[in-house]
Amino acid sequence: MNALPPNAVIGIVGGGQLGRMSALAAARLGYRCHILTPEPDSPAAQVSAGVTLGDYEDIDALRDFASKVDVITFEFENVSAEGLDLLAALRPVRPSPTVLRLSQDRVAEKSFLNNAGIPTAPWREVNSLADLESATAELGLPAILKTTRLGYDGKGQMMLRAPGDLAEAFAQLSPKPLILEGFVDFGCEISVIVARGLGGEVVAFDVVENRHRHHILDLTLAPARVSELIADAARNLAMHVAEAMELVGLLAVEMFVTADGRVLVNEVAPRPHNSGHWTIDACPVSQFEMHIRAVAGLPLPPATRHSDAVMKNLVGEAETAMWPEIVATPGFCAHLYGKAEARAGRKMGHVTRLFPRGALPGEFGVTAALGILAEPGRDDPEPPHGQLS
Ligand code: AMP
Repeated sequence: MNALPPNAVIGIVGGGQLGRMSALAAARLGYRCHILTPEPDSPAAQVSAGVTLGDYEDIDALRDFASKVDVITFEFENVSAEGLDLLAALRPVRPSPTVLRLSQDRVAEKSFLNNAGIPTAPWREVNSLADLESATAELGLPAILKTTRLGYDGKGQMMLRAPGDLAEAFAQLSPKPLILEGFVDFGCEISVIVARGLGGEVVAFDVVENRHRHHILDLTLAPARVSELIADAARNLAMHVAEAMELVGLLAVEMFVTADGRVLVNEVAPRPHNSGHWTIDACPVSQFEMHIRAVAGLPLPPATRHSDAVMKNLVGEAETAMWPEIVATPGFCAHLYGKAEARAGRKMGHVTRLFPRGALPGEFGVTAALGILAEPGRDDPEPPHGQLS
């Protein structure tokens, strides 16, 4: 197995906070990062050795980027198939374009998962109103209609509650290819971050619980307050997905726990994930270091945690405006991403609060531990659709 030598250059496609925190982890391991992004002064480029400023579809920019790096990874998976193929012809791309393609398309993803024996919500492909009518007849209502591509943080999806909602929802989301998913009446949402190395070794972080506000992750509790049986099932599912995909790199697997204790996979993202930010402060090796290690061909240590944690995202203006108080609060591990402007729905930073292992408090304790951050974004407007965070 060929590990990247110290001072080698890791190319990261995407300039956001996930790239920034990956680059910081890479620097600690003696690597340099070079970022591909269309955005001047991006969070990732601010802390990296180099940047190629260019569009993800721009052939010259992709070539220039590849020529500057030894291996390529992603913090942003929506690069065109052609762009991916071009990069993969020039340098090793980890995770592979095959894995990225699966994660770009909800139909491809769910077909792959189901074929690998991994349970998901029931779903049907929808390309016409007639498809939608027969899909709702089969799956029932409520159900969720989603675009198959480029959806995130609840964008590109609509809840269908009554037969009268179908035509309107279809008109809003078509002509994009769509998928109808049966509504899962979940007890909680959990995720597992798993890494697989060049040699095929797999490690999984502990299962965490995720809570959303306005469809954007608000809180992560580590570990999730689920039974050992459910936690084991979730970790096994995540490791199974990584193996089935022959992943090299990091993968976040988002799951629903149903009221009757089943674990269903919602979606996968082959990159570091917001629900793994707690690992920076609560684990000897964070998700970002694990990502870099996997991409660089280094050994993967166990994904253990030394502390329990609550992670709170700083989203939009109200929460970001509290930064002076946040950095003055003892016990807050504070992270800011270097974005110039705090727009509604934009992820600006996060705060992690640690507890001794095994001492994650109950609901009131979590609220108390968040202190000034318990509900500051309550009055924030819902972010407009289509806006990048
Ligand atoms: P997604 O973009 O697929 O991650 O969906 C965003 C959020 O919508 C999820 O975190 C869930 O809270 C909710 N959601 C998505 N799909 C379903 C479903 N099939 N049943 C119930 N809730 C869902």
